[in-house]
Amino acid sequence: MSNPPGKLIIISGPSGAGKSTVVNRLLAECTLPLTLSVSATTRHPRPGETHGKEYWFLSPEDFAARKARGDFLEAKEVFGRGYWYGTLAETVSSGLKSGKWVILEIDVHGAATVLEVHPDAITIFIHPGSLAELERRLRNRGTESEANISRRLEVASEELAMMHRYTHEVINREVDQAVAELCTLLQKYDLG
Ligand code: 5GP
Repeated sequence: MSNPPGKLIIISGPSGAGKSTVVNRLLAECTLPLTLSVSATTRHPRPGETHGKEYWFLSPEDFAARKARGDFLEAKEVFGRGYWYGTLAETVSSGLKSGKWVILEIDVHGAATVLEVHPDAITIFIHPGSLAELERRLRNRGTESEANISRRLEVASEELAMMHRYTHEVINREVDQAVAELCTLLQKYDLG
């Protein structure tokens, strides 16, 4: 018997909105065949991050070679500082083929590119409610320089302006609530 068709889920939201925490909890707790598409990036690992888990950490040369080879479904220089991020086409297609619900945690520009190829993707925008709250969280994380924080806030306000392109909006006031809300909205897609 063949697998039921997989689904593509795009999750975007400003950096510091708690997306990764929410997505990890969703993967562990939501009873759907969810899988995370691990992206490639040229940024350096933060403390505690592992090659192949949060990202495939590639050298700029390696990333460019893979991009030229057509390995990416989309690839963007997310912060305009020379760091690239990209979704691996093979990860997505093999996940979908095996009936998984593949989650892409990507920026708004990457999402727009993926939607051109997969217009039926489920799109979700997660944010912390306000820019002031986002700034508080970025500072609390303690991993970002001042310059980085201002740049991220600038990018965040641009990203918030694109929220209307997403079908669903989840405000991450508190992790348990955001995970429950996301799981409930995804389970509705399981009925069809
Ligand atoms: P971070 O460096 O904090 O892990 O991620 C920075 C931003 O890059 C986040 O907004 C995240 O969603 C985005 N991002 C992560 N992976 C990809 C990807 O494969 N493609 C695109 N376009 N954006 C990504």
